[in-house]
Amino acid sequence: MASQTPVLIGADTLETLVANIFVANGCDGAEAGRIAHHLLGANLAGHDSHGVVRVPRYVEWQQQGFVVAGQQAEVVTDGGAFALLDGHWGFGQTVAPQATALGIERAKQHGTAVIALRNAGHVGRIGAYSEQAIAAGLISIHFVNVAGSVLVAPFGGTERRFSTAPFSVGVPTDPPVVLDFATSRVAEGKVLVASNGGKALPPDALIEPDGRLSGDPHTLYGEYPPVGPRNPSNGLGAIRAFGEHKGSGLAFMCELLAGAFTGGGTSGPVGERGRIANGMLSIYISPSHFGTEAEFKKTAEDYVAWVKSCRPDTPGGEVLAPGEPEARLRAERLAKGVPLQPDTWESITRCARSLGVTVPN
Ligand code: NAD
Repeated sequence: MASQTPVLIGADTLETLVANIFVANGCDGAEAGRIAHHLLGANLAGHDSHGVVRVPRYVEWQQQGFVVAGQQAEVVTDGGAFALLDGHWGFGQTVAPQATALGIERAKQHGTAVIALRNAGHVGRIGAYSEQAIAAGLISIHFVNVAGSVLVAPFGGTERRFSTAPFSVGVPTDPPVVLDFATSRVAEGKVLVASNGGKALPPDALIEPDGRLSGDPHTLYGEYPPVGPRNPSNGLGAIRAFGEHKGSGLAFMCELLAGAFTGGGTSGPVGERGRIANGMLSIYISPSHFGTEAEFKKTAEDYVAWVKSCRPDTPGGEVLAPGEPEARLRAERLAKGVPLQPDTWESITRCARSLGVTVPN
């Protein structure tokens, strides 16, 4: 699909509209605000795939009872420096920040904490949880999977076996370093954005059942209308794992740690089709408890500067640290507004009107 000229919507306007949509769909104001803030935050960071483009699908999931408003993460096992939480299919934007807050609290007590979260509704951009830990001065590592969502072919295969299983590490330097990516060649949301006329996919991002490589969203979604929700179970192909056998191996570990270990389940075989949940195994580390904080920060910040001083591979190019592209875009989009593909904006406004929510002009 040809790329379309984006519409520019002010960040506040968009956040208010999304919050109003979720209030109209049955969330209380605080939860609707958290969902809106998180989705908008993904757009501001440049991860449009995990931003407001998700609104119609989230609304549909809530209406179908796949995700449940007003849930709290329940502590199932409490070992002090470790805990297992069940999100009970609550909104990820509610239960994942709760799990992260518990990890922060426990790491502040014990120096480290391991928090396993299962059965969370879609938790969105994982870097947000690394940033939550960074704000508390902590290092964090997050292995995540999507139980019941099988989208990605393993290295050497053509059939779906993994979820897009994201992974994130946050380091509280100044500025912070935040690595956050899907272990698939592209996040599913990037296929969604491309199907809405947004940024095209790399031509080898997807794989057809016969092994042909593809950059066409139809490989994942099958036939779909120009506007409206997409269903990845309609397509016959798969997204490829990133980084050949290495990325495929990291995805494997995310499924084992965030899916099997937490008890939330792996990407498949899929049982209750359509209902997906994130699992997240997080490790929190407090440098101050290790007695290394000052030295660690200095060494790390010097190192970041040295890496960035590397000669660029192209004239005018620049070496960036993980998290830098997001920080730059955030500043730009807060000032100028959030660019949305017209089809994305259309599907959000259509969703709003269907719930009786007024759409700003
Ligand atoms: P991506 O491929 O854009 O990679 C992003 C990472 O690469 C960031 O850490 C970024 O800082 C770094 N980066 C980008 N350009 C860089 C450069 N030039 N130099 C140095 N570092 C650079 O991310 P993605 O795989 O498309 O994932 C997008 C989002 O999707 C992530 O936020 C992820 O958490 C989210 N996601 C969530 C789920 C879920 O189930 N909740 C599933 C998959 C993905």
